[in-house]
This record gives sequence, structure tokens and C-alpha cells, in this order.
Amino acid sequence: MPVHTPEILMQNQVGITRAARILANGGLVALPTETVYGLAADARSDTACARIFAAKGRPRFNPLIVHLSSVDQVADIAELPDPARALAAAFWPGPLTMVLPLKPGHGLSAMVSAGLDTVAIRVPAHPAMRAVLQAFGGPVAAPSANPSGKISATTVNHVVTGLGDRIDAVLDGGPCTVGVESTILAPGPHGTRLLREGGIAREDLEVITGPLLTDTTPGKISAPGQLSSHYAPQAPVFLNMDLTDSAAITVGFGPGPGRFNLSATADLTEAAANLFGILHAADAIAAGQPIHIAPIPETGLGRAINDRLRRAAAPRDQA
Ligand code: AMP
Ligand code: MG
Repeated sequence: MPVHTPEILMQNQVGITRAARILANGGLVALPTETVYGLAADARSDTACARIFAAKGRPRFNPLIVHLSSVDQVADIAELPDPARALAAAFWPGPLTMVLPLKPGHGLSAMVSAGLDTVAIRVPAHPAMRAVLQAFGGPVAAPSANPSGKISATTVNHVVTGLGDRIDAVLDGGPCTVGVESTILAPGPHGTRLLREGGIAREDLEVITGPLLTDTTPGKISAPGQLSSHYAPQAPVFLNMDLTDSAAITVGFGPGPGRFNLSATADLTEAAANLFGILHAADAIAAGQPIHIAPIPETGLGRAINDRLRRAAAPRDQA
């Protein structure tokens, strides 16, 4: 039997119209965002959302992020209490997701929020994603376009390698510029909780929110990467390694040794953009060898990078 291959759509009017049409028909399209590629479906359709969970092998208790083309659309679906409004004004469109109280009559599939009374919402910045959202006109559920627990996709090739036989199409918007997933915040009356480190540095968010609360309740999963093994290559991963004389597949940061380098100039923005691409490339040549990664500073986007690397290096039995 021939293997199913997805339609590859271009970032032009034909591709954008086709992507919106597939969404309207209940299909699955991988779409570029500035963070990572997302696996998109109509967020109002139970069957379309069920296809996302099936294609990714994603546990049903793990809710999806809803993508909208403008802040104005949020009011139909969720409350936007302060400081959510100020955060939206400062960071949307962009790599920020906010967990907000659902409004009655929101119209979303119950699968999106996994039965919670809140929904995670983002207004992304990538021009192709925004154009598809506008052409489609409704809310789009889109988790990262990778098999559950594996390395996220930042290029069309990553998407096709991971999910190609399970999706209808992928729109080629080039490599993702931010390269790590969105920051997830839950604004609330007693402060704003940080649920996932991501593409906006904590320091920049705290200008608006004040000190963020971090949820450390053991065993409680309220955001994605809170599953300890996630973003995982096949090869075992070791962090904070001295790469001098290492016989492993080495990933450097800053000047110094390394078969790969996240950023030769020690630029954390560049390192975030390169992170998943380098993990894919290192894994492809590892052939049973471990991957050794140099220390990354725990500041700015370094926090999101280290979060992803700790989960990539975590024991796999909980994946
Ligand atoms: P992904 O799209 O793969 O980056 O994952 C999105 C993540 O957003 C999920 O894994 C959830 O844990 C998180 N999320 C989505 N909806 C909610 C919600 N209502 N409350 C808390 N976290 C959420
Ligand atoms: Mg993901």
C-alpha cells in the first residue's frame, strides 16, 4: 500500500486558502508559527480535535492551545481579567499563551480544554499562521506538530519526518525564528502563575506582572512540559558537560569545542532558535552514542532552553 504523504503548501495565497479549506473540512494541517510548527485543526469540532490527539499519540488529559488572529476574538471565548489585558497589549501577537476562564457559549470542543473551566489562548505572530487564521475565521487548536513526547518541529522536514503519514498538509513558512514554545501564564487575582518557560523571557513579563508565581506542587500537571520526559531524542542526553575530549556527540554553547554549537557567540536568542534543529540533527547521527551538551546560563531565554533540555535528558519511563 502506498505510504500517505501530506500536501506541501507554500506561503502564498493558494497555500493559505487551501490550508483554511482543509481546516474548515475538519482536516489536520501543520502550520508555521514563530515558536515551533503547530498541528492545527478546527477548535470547535470534536472529530477534528480528536484527530490531533490520535495523530500525536497525545494523552487526552493534556489540553490544547487555541490560536486566534486578534485580541478582539478572545472576548467571544474567554474572560480577559487584568493583568491579562495588559499582557495581551504588550506581547500579542507573539509567543505568549494565557490560561483564561472560559465564557458560557464559547463554542469550543470539550476536548480542547480537557474538561477544565479554563482555556489556553494565544495570538501568534507568524504572518502565514495569521493569514490562515484570518482566512479560516474561527478558533484553531494547535499543539506542537511532533509525536507526543518527542522533539518539537521547527522546519517542514521535522514535521514530515515525525507526522507525515498522519496529517493532510503542511504549510512551509521556513524555519521558526523563536524556536522554543510559547511562555504559558495563568493570570489570577492573587498573582500570575508561570506554567511554562518559553519564548518570552521571564524578566520581560515581570515588568507587567510583578514577580511570577511558579507552581511546584509535586505530581501536578497543569502545563505541557510538566511531564518530566518530553522533547526527547532517541539518544540519551547529558547536560552541563565539559565537552573537552568528549567522545559523545557534542553540542556546544559559546566559543569552545562542540560537533554542533547552539550559538558560537553565546547569544541565547540564537541558541533558542537552533535548539530543536540541533537536537534533531544530533539524534540523526548518534547511532547509540550519547549527546553531551555544554552548560547554558539560566537567564532570559536560557531558562526555556534549560527547561527543554532537562526534559530531553529526563528518564524516559514517564513519557
Ligand atoms: P503544546 O501545544 O504541545 O505546546 O502544549 C500546550 C500546553 O498548554 C498543554 O500541554 C497544556 O498543559 C497547556 N494548557 C493548555 N490548556 C491549558 C489549561 N486550560 N490550563 C493549563 N494548561 C493548559
Ligand atoms: Mg509540545
